[in-house]
Amino acid sequence: MTDTKASEAYKIIDHTYDVIVVGAGGSGLRATMGAAEAGLRTANISKVFPTRSHTVAAQGGIAASLGNNSPDHWSWHMYDTVKGSDWLSDQDAVEYLVREAPQAVYELEHAGVPFSRNDDGTIYQRPFGGHMQNMGDGPPVQRTCAAADRTGHAMLHALYQQSLKYDADFFIEYFAIDLIMNKGRCVGVIAICMDDGSIHRFRGHAVVLATGGYGRCYYTATSAHTCTGDGGGMVLRAGLPLQDMEFVQFHPTGIYGAGVLITEGARGEGGYLTNSEGERFMERYAPSAKDLASRDVVSRSMALEIREGRGVGPEKDHIYLHLDHIDPDVLAARLPGITESGKIFAGVDLTRQPLPVTPTVHYNMGGIPCNYHGEVVTIGEDGDPETVVPGLFAVGEAACVSVHGANRLGSNSLIDLVVFGRATGHRLKELVKPGVSHDELPADSADMALTRLDHFRHAKGGSPTARIRRDMQQAMSTHAAVFRNDELMGEGVKKLEAIYRNLEDVSVADRSLIWNSDLIETLELDNLIAQAQVTMASAYNRKESRGAHAHEDYPERLDAEWMKHTAAWHDGWGGKGGSVKIDYRPVHEYTLTDDVDYIEPKKRVY
Ligand SMILES: Cc1cc2nc3c(=O)[nH]c(=O)nc-3n(C[C@H](O)[C@H](O)[C@H](O)COP(=O)(O)OP(=O)(O)OC[C@H]3O[C@@H](n4cnc5c(N)ncnc54)[C@H](O)[C@@H]3O)c2cc1C
Repeated sequence: MTDTKASEAYKIIDHTYDVIVVGAGGSGLRATMGAAEAGLRTANISKVFPTRSHTVAAQGGIAASLGNNSPDHWSWHMYDTVKGSDWLSDQDAVEYLVREAPQAVYELEHAGVPFSRNDDGTIYQRPFGGHMQNMGDGPPVQRTCAAADRTGHAMLHALYQQSLKYDADFFIEYFAIDLIMNKGRCVGVIAICMDDGSIHRFRGHAVVLATGGYGRCYYTATSAHTCTGDGGGMVLRAGLPLQDMEFVQFHPTGIYGAGVLITEGARGEGGYLTNSEGERFMERYAPSAKDLASRDVVSRSMALEIREGRGVGPEKDHIYLHLDHIDPDVLAARLPGITESGKIFAGVDLTRQPLPVTPTVHYNMGGIPCNYHGEVVTIGEDGDPETVVPGLFAVGEAACVSVHGANRLGSNSLIDLVVFGRATGHRLKELVKPGVSHDELPADSADMALTRLDHFRHAKGGSPTARIRRDMQQAMSTHAAVFRNDELMGEGVKKLEAIYRNLEDVSVADRSLIWNSDLIETLELDNLIAQAQVTMASAYNRKESRGAHAHEDYPERLDAEWMKHTAAWHDGWGGKGGSVKIDYRPVHEYTLTDDVDYIEPKKRVY
């Protein structure tokens, strides 16, 4: 660190808004639109150009009970989401999600999303894993609306075009470093403009974190390299907890070696998995839903087949996905993107050959705890687990509402983005009055952000950022994978502590402030490591199996003790060594209205 106080060494440019949204993926854009529409002066800060956010890569679709291609009802969608979550979701929030979903899809349709169509002109819907008719009894429902296999692309472009219509200011290729907290209230954010290195202080009555997931703490992930969970890092440094971080979703069909996603829509359109004996093994594990069981179930079944020696390929370490029996015209119309991915990333012609696939890190069920209005919550000093953190909101994959609980159903994230992005807009409209003046900022408002920035900018250690990142990614991939046990996770906790300490020895070669990607990647790594530690510790602490957390020493779900949300704090920044503190919040065992009964826990079979 330099001798002068860092905050004095950097010139700060000030901005004043009603609302600051960090992130321009599907959730951030929807929240920005909502706030701007309510007449609030809104700034959106994004480290990538909005249409390059990871939402652009979403393929398969967005779930809503429109009932266009098969009978459906929102209560069936609710049942499937709760069952999919392995009863860790909050049912009031799930009810809100599924009831608002159809309207949210029509809103996207009117905003210009070119959904695939049925012959009668209605939106085409395909089957997806874990989505059933008749309160789980089946048969599979067609609930997932899609724009071929480029749904996220279509959505993000439509939302960005719409948001330009409103009077929001976009700060593009600005990297948010840290929140400004004042006596427990969030009052803004400090960011760096990556282009010229200028430092910006954004004041707002509310800050909405829409920064996406942190898949990149694993070695192979379907998520973009930008998915580094920066919002979660900021929240931990603000002394607030993250929730249910042990639940990391492995998607069954990442392309072997490349990690690139093949949408579940491929199985929705009739694709199936086989092992080295040519057997359709999912019939054994999930006799009713088969290849369309929940993602955690399919990923575990694949891992077991591989472990028992029935994997395919020279190393017997992957599985085949067959689409070669599907009419090439259907593939061309409904799955054109993955047909291309198969060619580019696996050298396979899907119309003739099976595709090599393996379970790959895909989604974070955990994140910043919040209620269904998007308000961030924590466990208060008086023990109240619903204590709202004033001024702070979270939406999208960065948030944990929680509607996905221990396992998210496919196509339930895109709907989560728009439903809760919109709900947050509504809440902001209620809470923030346009143009109200701001309180005096605390004198140290930029200290933490700039001290960190300056510290890493001048870091002269012996370990390049890329090496520490690789060590962390390998530790996560080895010690917190599809199957976990006490020994593995205990070692993982220790390994990550050592890797975290090694961050003190990081070397950053570039000292400039102009497009210093070395520095930005180091700030991202700092965010990732804290969340890797929290994930490992939360997983090690949970002595049961539920959803994506498959604990070999405790193979059963133990509701009496463990039907509760993990809340985990990290005391990293400031030389405190990176230890994790864990507590628990109760799961909401009630619905939003009397229109539907609370769905009682039962054994989860597909
Ligand atoms: C390959 C793939 C396919 C998927 N397919 C589907 C699907 O078919 N259906 C479905 O429901 N779900 C799908 N998902 C999941 C879903 O797409 C994501 O969960 C969702 O898009 C995340 O959206 P988001 O708005 O939370 O964040 P993102 O789209 O990830 O956007 C994050 C935003 O935050 C900004 N940001 C982050 N950090 C900072 C910072 N420090 N400073 C400034 N800005 C920052 C970024 O610039 C970006 O704009 C898929 C995911 C992947 C990876």
